[in-house]
Amino acid sequence: MSEDGLKKMIIAIDGPAGAGKSTIAKMVADKLGLKHIDTGAMYRALALKAMREGKDCTDGKVLIDLLSRSKIEIRADNRCSPAVILLDGEDVSGEIRLPEINHKVSQVAKVPEIRRELVKLQRELAAGGGVVMDGRDIGTIVLPGADIKIYLTASLEERVRRRYHELIQRGSPTSLAETKKQVVDRDRGDRERKTGPLRMAPDAFYLDTTGLTPEEITAKIVRLCDEGG
Ligand code: C5P
Repeated sequence: MSEDGLKKMIIAIDGPAGAGKSTIAKMVADKLGLKHIDTGAMYRALALKAMREGKDCTDGKVLIDLLSRSKIEIRADNRCSPAVILLDGEDVSGEIRLPEINHKVSQVAKVPEIRRELVKLQRELAAGGGVVMDGRDIGTIVLPGADIKIYLTASLEERVRRRYHELIQRGSPTSLAETKKQVVDRDRGDRERKTGPLRMAPDAFYLDTTGLTPEEITAKIVRLCDEGG
C-alpha cells in the first residue's frame, strides 16, 4: 500500500481480556504513524467515576446521567508515549487500571445506552482515518468498514499470566487464581451481553499470539497493512 494510503488507514483490533490488544495497537500505531484509541479506557473512565460517586453500575439511568455530566478525552497526540485518559480534565490513566475497576467495567459496558453514546464518540474519534482502535466491538459495530480487522487472542493460561504480571508491576497485590477468575468472568460478561458483545468479525484476521513476542505480533499486523489486508 502507498505511504499516503497507510497514513489514512483504519485498523480495528478486538479480542478477549489479556490478549495484548492495547500494547499491540499502540506498537502498530507507532510503527505506522497512526493514532491509537483504546476504547476500553473510555468504559473504564466511566466505571471509575461511578465508583468514586458510589453509583450503582447496573442502573442504566444513573449511568446515563453520570455520562452526561462527564467529559472523557483521549490524548493520543504524542505518538511515542502512552495515551493519556482524561476524566473531567484529570489524568486517570493509571487509576482506571486498578483491579476494582476490572470488576465494575463489565457492568457499565453492558448498558445499551452507554454503549450507544460511547460508540458515537469512538466513531467521531476515527473520522478522517489514521487510527488503530482496540476494544471488543470495533470490527463488528464501531467501525465495520475498517481497512484491516484483527481478532487478537491467546490461550487462557497466557492471557492470565500477562494480566497477572501487569497487575503485579502496577503494585496491585493479587494471585494467579484470582486473576484467572477475573479474566474468565470478564470474558463471559463481554461475550454474553446483548449489545455489542465480543465477536470476531467475519472478515477479521484471527491471530493467536500465544508464545509470540509483542514485536513479532506487531510485525505480522504491519505486514498485513502493507499488503492492504
Ligand atoms: O480493553 P479493556 O480490558 O481495558 O476493556 C475493559 C472493559 O471495557 C472490557 O472488559 C469490556 O467490558 C469493556 N469494553 C467494551 N467494549 C469495548 C472496549 C471495552 O465493552 N469496545
